[in-house]
Amino acid sequence: MGMKGGRSQASPPLRDPGGRIVNAMTVDVEDYFHVAAFESCLAPADWDRMQPRVVANTRRILALFEARGVRATFFVLGWVAERFPRLVREIHAAGHEIACHGYLHRRATTQTAEEFRADVRRARDLLEDLTGHPVLGYRAPTYSIDAVRTPWAYGILAELGFRYSSSLYPVRHDLYGRPDAPRHPFPVADGALVEIPISTLRLGGRNLPCGGGGYFRLLPWFYSRLAVQHINGRERRPYNFYFHPWEIDPGQPRLERAPWKSRLRHYTNLARMEGKLCRLLALGTWRPMREVYGIE
Ligand SMILES: [Zn+2]
Repeated sequence: MGMKGGRSQASPPLRDPGGRIVNAMTVDVEDYFHVAAFESCLAPADWDRMQPRVVANTRRILALFEARGVRATFFVLGWVAERFPRLVREIHAAGHEIACHGYLHRRATTQTAEEFRADVRRARDLLEDLTGHPVLGYRAPTYSIDAVRTPWAYGILAELGFRYSSSLYPVRHDLYGRPDAPRHPFPVADGALVEIPISTLRLGGRNLPCGGGGYFRLLPWFYSRLAVQHINGRERRPYNFYFHPWEIDPGQPRLERAPWKSRLRHYTNLARMEGKLCRLLALGTWRPMREVYGIE
């Protein structure tokens, strides 16, 4: 089975002029109060009362990327796009890919098929109106597409015109992750789109997380460097990484009501994130998912 409109499993990876495999950089554009870890203490009705930080943080990312020649995919939350339309236009004007992260940051697994369709369509329409360009990529909040619990999700994305999804992090985790899912891009919805999972390291019969999230902030730098080298050098695959604007913002307001585990994950090593991210960016060439995987 091939990937319609995409770089197939067999075709060689995209390389930079120096011969290095080009990696995929992605940013989930949402604010610190949107994360699933805080949904037990904050409802969408509370969001408008929070101090927004996403515009300033995303602009810092745009500056970091521009200084290093990085172009990326920005999976923008519809709620953010509606309130900060100029930000979406700025990201697009800087040459990055605009993709969709749903409207209300609800997990696919907590919605019916009809609710999922309406939420994704609302966000997609907002983003396409702002840029005048088709949105081809989708990322489910909290990597929540699940072949067992949401078997309808990929079909709906195909029906809405998406060409790829990056909604899997195949590791063990209480909120996301399907440790038995494929580690590399695979066709879904009868080949109408391709699922591009976040990178993992296969070690001792297990998938270890290495493509972003709290893990990137918690684990030592040498582990991330080793992961990129292993995936590019041994597996000859692009490395797929993600992070959030709030992760480079140690000054964000603290949500003291949140459970301790959520606070630990959310606040650990925020002050070191920017420096670590810059070291990662220096490891190679970074492009949007759409370009890395040749999706049209
Ligand atoms: Zn998210």
